[in-house]
Amino acid sequence: MMGSGGMIVMDESTNMVDVARFFMEFCMDESCGKCIPCRVGTVQLYKLLTKISEGKASFADLKLLEELCDMVKHTSLCGLGQSAPNPVFSTLRYFRDEYLALIKQTAISS
Ligand code: SF4
Repeated sequence: MMGSGGMIVMDESTNMVDVARFFMEFCMDESCGKCIPCRVGTVQLYKLLTKISEGKASFADLKLLEELCDMVKHTSLCGLGQSAPNPVFSTLRYFRDEYLALIKQTAISS
């Protein structure tokens, strides 16, 4: 997502789950709180991304992340909430292996 037209360049050492988490933190902070899907949903999405990033998530958490993203996108009142899940969708689409590697790491260590 280009947003206002900015471009961020990252090399191969960047963890894309952390990138999605960074953008979700921004949306969580900027939410005005008027509608529940955005106000609560962005917080829950941020928590799930943190759990994945820290290697503590299960495959059920990944499924929940995708379902919650879909819900927040389709039920938020304005563009902020409607676009908040986009970095998660993009990173899952193009870098799903990075999510799976962190979740498999959890499965091996538990
Ligand atoms: S989607 Fe818009 S109206 Fe709803 S809480 Fe977020 S910023 Fe406010």
